Amino acid sequence: MSNITVCARFRPLSSKERRDDGHRICIRCIDTETFIFKDEKEEDFTFSFDRVFCEESKQAEVYEFLALPIVRDAVNAINGTIITYGQTGAGKTYSMEGPSVLEVDEEKKGLLPRVVDGIFEHIKSFDEITKYSIKLSMVEIYMEKVRDLFDLSKDNIQIKESKVQGILLSGATEISVSDPSQALQSLSTGIANRAVGETQMNIASSRSHSVYMFTIQTEFLGDKRMKAGKLVLVDLAGSEKVEKTGAEGRVLEEAKMINKSLSALGNVINALTCGSGRANHIPYRDSKLTRILQDALGGNSRTAILCCCSPSPSNASESLSTLRFGGRAK
Ligand code: ADP
Ligand code: MG
Repeated sequence: MSNITVCARFRPLSSKERRDDGHRICIRCIDTETFIFKDEKEEDFTFSFDRVFCEESKQAEVYEFLALPIVRDAVNAINGTIITYGQTGAGKTYSMEGPSVLEVDEEKKGLLPRVVDGIFEHIKSFDEITKYSIKLSMVEIYMEKVRDLFDLSKDNIQIKESKVQGILLSGATEISVSDPSQALQSLSTGIANRAVGETQMNIASSRSHSVYMFTIQTEFLGDKRMKAGKLVLVDLAGSEKVEKTGAEGRVLEEAKMINKSLSALGNVINALTCGSGRANHIPYRDSKLTRILQDALGGNSRTAILCCCSPSPSNASESLSTLRFGGRAK
């Protein structure tokens, strides 16, 4: 039994795809888990994931299936990770944030605002919780450098490990949040800072990994000390292949780094799912991303991966590669 849940999500066709591809789609859902994917050569591939979310799926469904169990556990001091994977434009950020983290339309709210609500609701629902604290850090990983999104001057955060607290973003800003609206404001500030930093350095947001880390400390009735659960959400850089011939300079370097960290993530997940457990080496140290996730991925922790895809035949080859990444994690 693995603690990794893998889901696929197909967003609706974009207006451009609808125009260029005559409304065609390359995916057919059979049931809630199984779907058939047609590649460019009209070859059929059948995939079975823990859940497939088709084009008409709702943000709330994605949250309830994929995130809610992890949120519940995080409040009970079990670490968890929620990852969105896929090519640029596939719906990772829409799934993670919604149109904005401050979105008021209930239907459109993404995972982050729902996770925030979920954390506070769960804490309130446990009568036995006598004390709690919730802290939020936000960093971006670009070219294997970790940058604090609450303080852009901290542009080379080191990852350390402590016996008591586990993996730490050393020196990164931690904001204490006491209610959902304050948490959302903080997330929104971090996201705005990310845009400022990216404009300053002239990088596209799709070329970096965004990491949202909630540390939830709780003290239950009768406990002698606070327990901590860590909940990490990751909106990954676009997984698309960069044309080897055209790319040069920084674009090529970026592509290599992204490729390296996404492969490192894949390797860690494979080692966790295929490994015999005992004496099985998990290569967390191969990238900043996997190092940050070390104590929230594997062991007792719970992980969910949302493989985001376009349903358009024009993106079939990238979608297939995203689905294969998901398939390997099962
Ligand atoms: P990514 O973060 O993977 O690059 P985005 O989340 O930015 O992709 O999505 C690309 C576009 O598709 C955005 O305009 C977004 O609003 C839209 N989109 C993505 N997923 C959905 C969805 N499930 N429903 C409606 N629109 C979506
Ligand atoms: Mg995005």
